Amino acid sequence: MKPDIRNLTRTELETALTGLGEKPSHAAAVFLAVHRKGAADLAALPGLPERVCRALSPAFLLAPLPLPERLQTSRDGTKKMLFRFEGNAPAECVVLPAKDRVIACLSSQSGCACGCTFCATGALGLKRSLTPAEIIAQFEACLKEAGTLNSLVFMGMGEPFLNWENVQKAVRILSDSRGRHFPQAKMTVSTVGIIPVIEELTYSDLRVRLAVSVVAADEEQRARLAPMEKTYPLKRVLAAVRDYCRIRKALVMFEYILFPGVNDRPSDAALLARLVGDIPCRVNLIPYNPPGGPGGETPRVKEFQLELINAGVRTYLRVERGADIAAACGQLASQ
Ligand code: SF4
Repeated sequence: MKPDIRNLTRTELETALTGLGEKPSHAAAVFLAVHRKGAADLAALPGLPERVCRALSPAFLLAPLPLPERLQTSRDGTKKMLFRFEGNAPAECVVLPAKDRVIACLSSQSGCACGCTFCATGALGLKRSLTPAEIIAQFEACLKEAGTLNSLVFMGMGEPFLNWENVQKAVRILSDSRGRHFPQAKMTVSTVGIIPVIEELTYSDLRVRLAVSVVAADEEQRARLAPMEKTYPLKRVLAAVRDYCRIRKALVMFEYILFPGVNDRPSDAALLARLVGDIPCRVNLIPYNPPGGPGGETPRVKEFQLELINAGVRTYLRVERGADIAAACGQLASQ
């Protein structure tokens, strides 16, 4: 089967055009036609000489972008879309309208292999990683629903750093000046702590922002909630993050889901503050939403926040959205 041209970055397209005996500079016009103008026929791309289209058509496919199978709207305006990609691989994306901006949350994989015990996606296991075109399809669907998007987060289904090659390509395609030109600095990639990719990102030319899911500061507890702790222990993850921040002069976001009575004790806040105190960061606190429905704030949420702030840690309490349609953090399971 011919490769889908939507999966190619501009650099890859330039190489392909050279291989076909055409000028690599045509890649810009191809990108514009495919990713911005929504061209549907590779044999008649607007703005390109017929000869170039004739060279591309036998080599590539321009498949229509997959459309969502279902759209749900939450009471708070959050929209969740379910895609069923090739091979019956489900994946969901979410549009989160806030007061002054709209955020799209995209999936990088159908299911997830990481097995975090609190996460509905983790319970599915991994079906497969998504292609760049499938990630772009989610972006386009979110853009169509929202009209405009201000930031993108890779915090949907899957561990983006276990599909880094394709996520990275999707980032390059979406941010390309001849494509959607969406700023990389407005994209956040969230990981449970895949150290080799954090290290790779440290030296990469990509400008995306990094978010790391702490889960629990105590290592035994973290291992129970996020089995990836056994492969990539938090202490080593934080060492990689420290280097990332120092070398890139960047700030990292830590995500911390508060499980009542599990990781929200004063001792947990103190340990967390000790672990991240020397890292330029912001800790996003997220009240836990069980897979079955909204969780909501416990009295400890605000106390925990205050304990971190008093320990000198910049902390933000995330207002969870879309819990009534299972679109909140940890709830995506293509139900
Ligand atoms: S929390 Fe993230 S890394 Fe863990 S199972 Fe869910 S999707 Fe995978």
